[in-house]
Amino acid sequence: MSTLKLDRTGVLVTCQSCGKTNRLRYSTLGSTVRCGACKTPLSPPAEPLEVPDAATFDAVISSSAVPVVVDFWAPWCGPCRMMAPELEKVARSAAGQWLIVKVDTEAVPELGERYRIRSIPTLAIFKGGRQIHSAAGARPAADIRSLVESSLRNPAA
Ligand SMILES: [Zn+2]
Repeated sequence: MSTLKLDRTGVLVTCQSCGKTNRLRYSTLGSTVRCGACKTPLSPPAEPLEVPDAATFDAVISSSAVPVVVDFWAPWCGPCRMMAPELEKVARSAAGQWLIVKVDTEAVPELGERYRIRSIPTLAIFKGGRQIHSAAGARPAADIRSLVESSLRNPAA
């Protein structure tokens, strides 16, 4: 379960040193950002982030400085639940490199419709504000990584 909150400008993270909440702006992801209070470098998000609404999704996609991997899923979908821990592994190993977000297609149906999601889970990869790849079906962490890496090398939409 995601413990980090996100809003239209960034991810709210807790400084591991002093405990102060900082906003990590999407546009600064991938760079070193220091805590406003104690100047300790903040850890980048290392877990999948649940997108609360379409406006937040649009903000993430349009301003993220790193590629965004989107998992379109739903609570009733068995394969989605199977893939969830795999996606968590990817989020841990790709912290600071890619942002991993989850869109619950029941909670935010307009996004599933906009991207014509016909089966779940579907992984979609966004870079520089646009979608460069999408693929349906659950996969283990190693396959998620190679899917993202190959689509970043050869953007095919
Ligand atoms: Zn601090």
